[in-house]
Amino acid sequence: MQEIYLDHSATTPIRPEVLEAMLPFLREHHGNAGSLHRFGRDCRRAVETAREQVAALINAEPREILFTSGGTESDNLAIRGIVEATDRKAIRLVTTAVEHHAVLHVCESLARANRVDLQVAGVDQEGLVDPDAVEALLGDETVLVSVMHANNETGVVQPLERIGALCRERGIPFHSDTVQSAGKLPLDVRKLPLDLAAISGHKLYGPKGIGALFVRSGTGIEPQAVGGAQERGRRAGTENVAGIVGLGRACELLSGELQSTSKQMEVLRDRLQEGALATVPDAGINGSTAHRLPNSLNMAFNDLDGERMMFALDQEGIAVSTGSACTAGSLDPSHVLLAMGQSHEHASSAIRFSLGRDNTEEEIDRVISLLPGLVEQLHERPD
Ligand code: PLP
Repeated sequence: MQEIYLDHSATTPIRPEVLEAMLPFLREHHGNAGSLHRFGRDCRRAVETAREQVAALINAEPREILFTSGGTESDNLAIRGIVEATDRKAIRLVTTAVEHHAVLHVCESLARANRVDLQVAGVDQEGLVDPDAVEALLGDETVLVSVMHANNETGVVQPLERIGALCRERGIPFHSDTVQSAGKLPLDVRKLPLDLAAISGHKLYGPKGIGALFVRSGTGIEPQAVGGAQERGRRAGTENVAGIVGLGRACELLSGELQSTSKQMEVLRDRLQEGALATVPDAGINGSTAHRLPNSLNMAFNDLDGERMMFALDQEGIAVSTGSACTAGSLDPSHVLLAMGQSHEHASSAIRFSLGRDNTEEEIDRVISLLPGLVEQLHERPD
């Protein structure tokens, strides 16, 4: 059976070039990047090259990049790091209802501990945050605003420039979870008013368990992992050299091809969208189509249970997702779709197709050809 992978927002395969770059650091270069002898120096050099490669993807300075274990840790470090760096008593955090749990759960845990006053901006039916709604929540005591760039379930892209500008005017640090957008949308931190941004290796054809946090020079964060002086004292722990090298190489490859790869994915995504809408009666799209990542398509097939649809596609060798991978398996419908005003039933019918750089027209056409039959079968056989 032909296998078709359309779940790149959950994770991407490692590119061969990335694996090649990593292998020497799993085989012969086993040094600790903190050691002063040649084994250590070889690894240190590789870590600093990777830092430059990650920085180049978002036009940051290398010293503004610190390595973490992934997107979750980067988000946690940004938020807790800012909150703990302030000695103010009254602290407000502002975020949105559609953030990944790596952001939402940190904010909620700080609020539960009475550490912060948490203010959550809603979204409209298309999943877009209104900058005016964010502005209305800002106050003198606001220490951080956190708004994701692109949503992992719908691909909806938020107006970061306008929200960032509001924060800048007030001197409030602005964090964005850029895990899904990095490598797909151009990101230039010299132009965007962003102070912190989270990146994850396995979403951009690098390895799992590695990520980065952009911290603008002059933005103070309190380290969360303490111990050694790695990452200039902001994140203790012996560096994951092979992972870091892989992340760096993945960023370097994407830097050179971002526009062409994004265009190619967009063409195929649009083909899938049009094909599905034309052949499946009552199919609909969740989220804005005007402000969306080039690889994402979140659909509902007439309130047909998303999990049944996902397994039916899986039987055909096609990998897609219901909500986000992290909430799959839980019975709760997506908090993102609920925040967009959808009913529980409708939110439970979502199917996320997320394309990658290796998908082909032939694969997309096979999916389109299978969809109407699968939907019909599932309608005829209700549980
Ligand atoms: N933020 C977003 C938007 C994500 O999609 C994910 C992963 O699904 C994360 C954060 C967490 O990243 P990681 O898996 O590297 O911890």
